[in-house]
Amino acid sequence: MEDLRQRFNSKRFAKQYHYDGALGAVCSREGTSFRLWAPTATSVELRLYQKGHSVSPYFQTALSREEKGVWVWSSPENLDGVYYDYVVTVQGVSRETADPYARACGLNGSRSMVIDLSRTNPKGWELDMPPERQPEDIIYEVHVREFSWAESGGFPKEARGKYKAFSCTDTTLYNDGTHPTGIGWMKQLGVTHVQLMPVFDYASVDEENPEGSFNWGYDPLNYNVPEGSYSTDPTRGEVRIREFKEMVQSLHQNGFRVIMDVVYNHTYHRDSWLERTVPGYYYRQYPDGRISDGSGCGNDIASERSMCAKYILDSVLYWTEEYHIDGFRFDLMGLLDTQLMETIRKELDARWGRGEKLVYGEPWTAWETAMARGFHPADKKHLAGMDMEIGAFCDGVRDAIKGSVMDVAARGFVNGGRHKEEQILHSVSGWCGKYRRFSAAAPSQVINYLSCHDNMTIWDKLVFTLDPQKQYDKFSSQVLRANRLAAAICFTCQGRLFLLSGEEFGRTKEGEGNTYCSPISLNRLDWERAWQNRELAEYYQGLFALRKTLPALCDKSIEARDRILQSKILRSGCVQALLDNTGGNYRQLLLVYNASHTPQSISLTDGWFLLADGENSFLWREEHPVSQLEVSPVSAMILGKK
Ligand code: CA
Repeated sequence: MEDLRQRFNSKRFAKQYHYDGALGAVCSREGTSFRLWAPTATSVELRLYQKGHSVSPYFQTALSREEKGVWVWSSPENLDGVYYDYVVTVQGVSRETADPYARACGLNGSRSMVIDLSRTNPKGWELDMPPERQPEDIIYEVHVREFSWAESGGFPKEARGKYKAFSCTDTTLYNDGTHPTGIGWMKQLGVTHVQLMPVFDYASVDEENPEGSFNWGYDPLNYNVPEGSYSTDPTRGEVRIREFKEMVQSLHQNGFRVIMDVVYNHTYHRDSWLERTVPGYYYRQYPDGRISDGSGCGNDIASERSMCAKYILDSVLYWTEEYHIDGFRFDLMGLLDTQLMETIRKELDARWGRGEKLVYGEPWTAWETAMARGFHPADKKHLAGMDMEIGAFCDGVRDAIKGSVMDVAARGFVNGGRHKEEQILHSVSGWCGKYRRFSAAAPSQVINYLSCHDNMTIWDKLVFTLDPQKQYDKFSSQVLRANRLAAAICFTCQGRLFLLSGEEFGRTKEGEGNTYCSPISLNRLDWERAWQNRELAEYYQGLFALRKTLPALCDKSIEARDRILQSKILRSGCVQALLDNTGGNYRQLLLVYNASHTPQSISLTDGWFLLADGENSFLWREEHPVSQLEVSPVSAMILGKK
């Protein structure tokens, strides 16, 4: 007998039951309709409630089965604000479930809510537009709670840890009126995109008591609803939606595009709304019945099944249309299949223009996964074969510069690692070519970074490997030098740029790596530290401003590799690259990275100018002609030729 897995993987099942129309609850003046895809169900009941939690249903009715396994019920009433859930019966077992397509929900997300979305729009929303794209995309990873939690940030009490903090545009250090924090700080830094760590509704934080725990939020509950603990009132379904939109609007108005971190590869529990509506359909399994766990979180979504792919695509499009989201960072993208990623890219391009919405992800998995035969994972191995506007975090550059994240003691180029020179030179060209560690077709596929929320911050990694006393809170000149060199390398590589918020001011988590549920006191952005360590932040700032003027580095095309005129190992721990900078103020660029402990002499022909060195990344603001120079130990130099 054919098992469930084979049945759900079969073309026959897709042909019989694939449904192209809209699902979920839709209301208007003319009435309200409910649509749930549940092809294996023998009955589906709808229950309506006055509130999002507690209370009994005030109304209950059976849905009727229509084409393709879709169950439907319509009311002539406008049910805006009414909460609902379903009872789905499959093979004699009845399960209570919220709507997987819910667009709003009650406290802690266990009941869905009918919503007239037009009434959630803040003033001026119809005119909301993302800011113009800049010459480079510089992505800043932020967690909503971490961003505004510290008292030093000077945020109003009611906004701390909430979406609302992003609408506070003139916060300063302890409210001193002179040292910007939050939005003002990000503006000064020059980042172009804010990547929000999970802001869809996740399960791990009790919305009734948000301050009782902390979580990064990689545990999806309702994919199409904003997380409630960041809103001022999670009990009223419309509030989190409006406040989320206000956040996006404010970020747009302040010059930032907004990227969402999306976690379609797994759900909090396998016993999700998806599982309860169509048991077995949305998750991968091995032929012997074992559950696939490539996410390391207990389940893997079966992205290759057509209605699962549709679910993910619909969700992505919904966030762009309803919430004006400008890009997506796919958690464990290596668990999704290349066909789905290509479809997402194509559909976004068709609606918003080629490459306008950024699409990139982690090109790996935690463990092996049971993807159906005939599909390929969107991982490192398949990256270069995918659409050029599908990007991936480049562990090649990350690990070459500071050492592998898998081994805390491992060293990279800037902190005493040996034989890293070649990898550093591959990094300059965005690993475009056929390399074993990482291989991209063009810089548009490459996300360069030193650190993200996972693993040690770059600061902690450098302290751990360079300071025998491991003083994370001390700003030692040795660690600062290595950090500046790391930043100078990472941000002069071809590809897009990414940084963890606070990286620019030596953010520390006291050497902890996986702080996903550590106290907020460890995870919060420390705005006092930001100003204590502002010289490092200024170094980042100068690099970003300079970067935006250098076509040799910003070029995302396949031809970008032709701009690398020469790359060469000068000696152990010291490399240089010469680039064609046609289109910019300088015709050529020379990058010299000296990680060794002796100075490196460089002789130049006429016409060269010093743009940045190991101390100052703003030298380019004035003319500094040079012919003979020395690159100090553990420092970078960026030069331009007119
Ligand atoms: Ca939640």
